[in-house]
Amino acid sequence: MTTSPRFAELSVGKRTILTPGPVEVDPRVLRALTTPILGQFDPEFTALMNETSRMIQGVFRTANPKALPVDGTSRAGLEAALTAVVRPGDKVLVPIFGRFGHLLVEICQRLDAVVETMEVEWGTVFDPTVIARAVREKRPQVLALVHGETSTGRVQPFTGLGDACRDVGALFVVDAVATLAGVPFETDEWKVDVAIAGAQKCLSVPAGIAPVTWNDRADARITARHRIERGLRTAADVDSDLPPIRSNYLDLAQLSDYWSPARLNHHTEATSMLYALREGLRLVLEEGLEERWKRHRLHEAALVAGLKALGLEFFGDPASKLAVVTCVKIPQGIDGDAVRAFLLDQFGVEIASSFGPLKGKIWRIATMGYSASRFNVLHGLGALEATLIRFGVKVPAGDALQAALAVYSDQAKLASTKG
Ligand SMILES: *Cc1c(COP(=O)(O)O)cnc(C)c1O
Repeated sequence: MTTSPRFAELSVGKRTILTPGPVEVDPRVLRALTTPILGQFDPEFTALMNETSRMIQGVFRTANPKALPVDGTSRAGLEAALTAVVRPGDKVLVPIFGRFGHLLVEICQRLDAVVETMEVEWGTVFDPTVIARAVREKRPQVLALVHGETSTGRVQPFTGLGDACRDVGALFVVDAVATLAGVPFETDEWKVDVAIAGAQKCLSVPAGIAPVTWNDRADARITARHRIERGLRTAADVDSDLPPIRSNYLDLAQLSDYWSPARLNHHTEATSMLYALREGLRLVLEEGLEERWKRHRLHEAALVAGLKALGLEFFGDPASKLAVVTCVKIPQGIDGDAVRAFLLDQFGVEIASSFGPLKGKIWRIATMGYSASRFNVLHGLGALEATLIRFGVKVPAGDALQAALAVYSDQAKLASTKG
């Protein structure tokens, strides 16, 4: 006879999450996850899918008819997008300013693209005219670029990049995973052809679903490949030598058919994640994008003021700082991971370490989505101050919270004088 092991009912500790994902989720989104299941072709469910698609358009600020979530984390969205537009042998230009640029390179290499990279030092971004010039010189089929680099806390300006891509017939594919719904992102105005977001960053939805949108320029390439894959090669396609899209699960063309009125069956939509995403997007639109960007800036300002009062040094070029991720240097002689473990253990506060060349050198503190709150900033600063003192770092006790509180009270005064 076997005895089945007994496991405790699921229960997790109380946390204040100040990492760049996953972040805390609004209770309304958590409640949406418990909504009863509907069949994937139930008209009530397909109506929710259609609404979600419209909400994705709203948050991406696009009129693209193509706007749907890929089931999987943001990386699945990136892989689906690149797999759809990058053909073997295509030249793809990837400017790299942090870890996620390398991810784009890796995905494109697996697609047998000819990848050309350009790099700047981590902590800085490109002068966009340098990228635009490279696009005009190299004439790639695709420019793949990260908007906000969570690894370095930087945001890349896009001025002139959409036009440069159009001039040479390149598609502009953007990783907006860290930035959508946190800082301004203008899909149409910036002439972004394909944009990919993530759920567990500024949208504040659990990881596992990735909104993607693409325009007619991208769709022309995607649907032509799709016709060939389905044996529906048209006269126009005959000479074009377009290979089919390599992935089945992450085939944007098939997903697009599934999300179209034809509802051609692909995989089963992840019902509960769709509910969660819909609620998360609804909350973003209810708050308003401008208000939401403003809220992220306010909590960034309070956090930065507090960290400065602690005497911590910031990492990276201030001109390109990403509002939702603040990077600070780990003080000399301090074990960064031990500090993080203490914060988590004693205060339930989670901050992030870092990757690659920055490993052991900086902490990353994020204020994204539902995690971007006064409670979290004050609690996080208080916990960090106490922890640093515990680790023997000389900090002016009490100043951090006062500095953050001053930012909040200035903001309150400003709001009240505006009437
Ligand atoms: C988090 C992140 C990703 C990867 O997201 P996953 O959801 O973990 O797959 C990609 N790009 C950027 C900029 C990110 O911040």
